[in-house]
Amino acid sequence: MVGGSRSSKTFKPKKNIPEGSHQYELLKHAEATLGSGNLRMAVMLPEGEDLNEWVAVNTVDFFNQINMLYGTITDFCTEESCPVMSAGPKYEYHWADGTNIKKPIKCSAPKYIDYLMTWVQDQLDDETLFPSKIGVPFPKNFMSVAKTILKRLFRVYAHIYHQHFDPVIQLQEEAHLNTSFKHFIFFVQEFNLIDRRELAPLQELIEKLTSKDR
Ligand SMILES: [Zn+2]
Repeated sequence: MVGGSRSSKTFKPKKNIPEGSHQYELLKHAEATLGSGNLRMAVMLPEGEDLNEWVAVNTVDFFNQINMLYGTITDFCTEESCPVMSAGPKYEYHWADGTNIKKPIKCSAPKYIDYLMTWVQDQLDDETLFPSKIGVPFPKNFMSVAKTILKRLFRVYAHIYHQHFDPVIQLQEEAHLNTSFKHFIFFVQEFNLIDRRELAPLQELIEKLTSKDR
């Protein structure tokens, strides 16, 4: 595992948004509004801001959150415990990125998640896809790339909830996981970023987490 010591809480290196940049301000704005407690409001596009940039900043943030959450349970997600990447008994995922691996391969969950997070990290680090400098435009296909990233990140939440919820409770990470996932779901719902079908493995939980705030 990359950079993995048992005490390490970070699975992949954190992607940093440079301090002083406009995207950093947006991130700070997102954090501040989240504190207000109204998630539906907090995920909305701030007035006058660019939708691509807002989605980019939040996607980076979700990657960092999932990275940390999965990092807390990597010791429990092994070749033995998770020989396939699943989200409950009904959903199994095979990895393909469409570029390096075209034909989906069946692999263990830790391997799948390693492929997935490495792939996401490569997209986030690609300056032509995620420009960090002011004035550099986002590519035309940005939203479709962001949708694919978020669709794949969702599977990590789904795997943690279905296969590793016990250690999450033992580690007292439950509230942290729920808050992060709820924020993620409100965000993707606000901008219609993930197909309903893809969310099916956690549909009940999504209904539970979002019903009180309707
Ligand atoms: Zn696992």
